Amino acid sequence: MMRITLPESFFFYSTLSLAFIFILWLFYYLKRRRLEKRRIFICRFCKERIEIEPGQITLRCPKCNAIQNIEIGV
Ligand SMILES: [Zn+2]
Repeated sequence: MMRITLPESFFFYSTLSLAFIFILWLFYYLKRRRLEKRRIFICRFCKERIEIEPGQITLRCPKCNAIQNIEIGV
């Protein structure tokens, strides 16, 4: 059987809690960033913000009527 002293158990507990919080934060951060990237497209000509559907390739700007390609990815 393993022997764990009180400071060691405290250390493990705090490390696990911090790791758990960090993983949760990372998950929400990546999800939010991906949503922001996919959903909003800014028109090259009039800087209008347009919401797009996932998988949509071309888009017609409702303000200046320009047809543009949407670049997905970095
Ligand atoms: Zn436009």
